[in-house]
Amino acid sequence: MSIKIHVFCIGEMAIPTKAIFNNLGKIIPRNVKINGITDIEWSDGSLSEGIKHPGCIYYIEGAEKKILIDTGIENFELIKKIRKRKGDCFYLKEKSEWRVEEQLNKIGVSVDDIDIVINTHLHWDHVGGNSLFKNAIYYIQKDEIPLALTAPNYAPHYFKENKQCIVDIADRIVFLEGDKEIVKGVRVRKTGGHTPGSQVVFIDTNIGRVAITGDVIPKYENWYYGWPGPAGNIWNLDELVNAYSIIQNNAEIIVPGHDWKVWDIYPEGIIGD
Ligand SMILES: [Zn+2]
Repeated sequence: MSIKIHVFCIGEMAIPTKAIFNNLGKIIPRNVKINGITDIEWSDGSLSEGIKHPGCIYYIEGAEKKILIDTGIENFELIKKIRKRKGDCFYLKEKSEWRVEEQLNKIGVSVDDIDIVINTHLHWDHVGGNSLFKNAIYYIQKDEIPLALTAPNYAPHYFKENKQCIVDIADRIVFLEGDKEIVKGVRVRKTGGHTPGSQVVFIDTNIGRVAITGDVIPKYENWYYGWPGPAGNIWNLDELVNAYSIIQNNAEIIVPGHDWKVWDIYPEGIIGD
């Protein structure tokens, strides 16, 4: 049986246009159009340009184990409360059919079936559903743990309230210190860059080797233009630039972490035959 990857949207969020372009500098010509910019009604009722993007999880079908990559948001109300307290102007949309359990149920998989979860990194939109998978072991880069547990102000997108998503599964974490073959045809490569312990998952399918990039590559534009921005995406620029080379050299198919266009290319949300 060959390996297929199911991509699921588990929520929609948005970023203001000015935050997308704030560090373009000389990298991107001014006439480059970023797809999907539209008017967005933010949490405070204001209206301005921004771009909406999905939060994603990925189920790997046909490998030796049932593997999920990232676990989504889950507690939307908590996230809204945190962001309100921080004074963020945000946009967050949930739908019942986007819930992690619902998405997996569509393909006949229950949360209890999952053997392995790989967290690409521990930002709030990638760990929210960690506690759902009672029978899974978790593959997480060790370098990701300190910021996830302490959530210092200088590290955006780690929230103290999300610490529970790590504490709840602590006795089932395999702490990685670099690259690792998880099962045949599925391996992780530690790249850092977006966060200290970001990891990219390389998966061998019958249409080529796929890179599930997490937020190392959030959108296709980031990949096409070799532009790892915006600023909030960059923890270590050298590592991030190097990550793009690693991905270039090791994968035929790139799947960005937050891009609706994935479903333009794979309308069924399935990568692989
Ligand atoms: Zn993300």
